[in-house]
Amino acid sequence: MSDVLLPKNLHEVWKIFDKSSETLVYAGGTDLLVKLASSRVPHSTPNVLVCLENIEELRNIRETDGRVRIGACVTHSRLLSHPLIRDNFPVLPKALRLLGSPPVRNMGTLGGNICTASPAGDALPALYLLDAELEISSQKGSRFIPIGQFIKGPGYAELQSGEILIAIWLDKNNDYTIHHFEKVGQRNALAISIASMAALIKLSSEGIVEKIRLAWGSVAPTIALSSEVETVLIGKPLSQVVLNEARPLLNQAISPIDDIRAKAEYRRTVAANLLIRLSRYNGHDKV
Ligand SMILES: Cc1cc2nc3c(=O)[nH]c(=O)nc-3n(C[C@H](O)[C@H](O)[C@H](O)COP(=O)(O)OP(=O)(O)OC[C@H]3O[C@@H](n4cnc5c(N)ncnc54)[C@H](O)[C@@H]3O)c2cc1C
Repeated sequence: MSDVLLPKNLHEVWKIFDKSSETLVYAGGTDLLVKLASSRVPHSTPNVLVCLENIEELRNIRETDGRVRIGACVTHSRLLSHPLIRDNFPVLPKALRLLGSPPVRNMGTLGGNICTASPAGDALPALYLLDAELEISSQKGSRFIPIGQFIKGPGYAELQSGEILIAIWLDKNNDYTIHHFEKVGQRNALAISIASMAALIKLSSEGIVEKIRLAWGSVAPTIALSSEVETVLIGKPLSQVVLNEARPLLNQAISPIDDIRAKAEYRRTVAANLLIRLSRYNGHDKV
């Protein structure tokens, strides 16, 4: 049995880390507590579990100098209803709306989704496209790291001992007119993705792609990006013919595996279909 401690501020967290050598932090617990209950945590059960949910600094959303700071323990439900997020980063709520069920979204946090580092994490494709920067702190101070450098592989994030994720920073300055997220699971609701795709697109008034960024989930050890696919689409309409031409480039960018949810080949097909389904925006210029 582990002791569960609920520090009220970061100072108390550092004191706990000083005193106990075997600690594990958590926020909503929707990943960690489930894994502990089924003995799927890579380390042995820790002596002390540190719940971060009472730390005010990790629970607020604020704007500073054109950037939005989201505390690591902000829940998915809170993000979904927050005007700063809805108005500036619609791709993120589009993804979070499809994450788990209402109780999971009420408990689960953005920081937890990131630190779990699952290639199926629904918030991750959007955060990669929004160039999220992560604020990591320890007793010694803070450092900032882009999300793509923080997540190293399935279940493996760049957190040193004694460090926690404090906040996620997003730049408000984006002029994409289409914010898109779609995921395919084994069923329509409450499903971990077999493949997912987020897209940020700016079309000209003639429907030609001026800017595009794409990210796929669940088809590689981490979120898959492809500047080759993006480059081939720039200057063209989002027609099925054009999107189909990009398919071989997407194939090179992903490396899906077989698992209990789907075969690798099926994931490849779904990832390509998600790309081709962007043709719904052909001739439109809307969010
Ligand atoms: C029924 C069910 C359905 C689900 N469906 C989905 C789904 O559709 N899509 C999806 O993406 N996920 C899904 N999940 C997974 C989970 O809900 C999300 O990943 C959620 O965002 C995790 O957040 P949390 O706060 O609960 O994480 P926790 O369980 O609290 O923590 C997860 C991991 O992150 C670490 N951690 C958490 N916060 C910090 C921090 N601030 N600093 C350092 N480390 C930290 C913990 O040590 C742990 O390793 C589902 C889970 C359940 C139980």
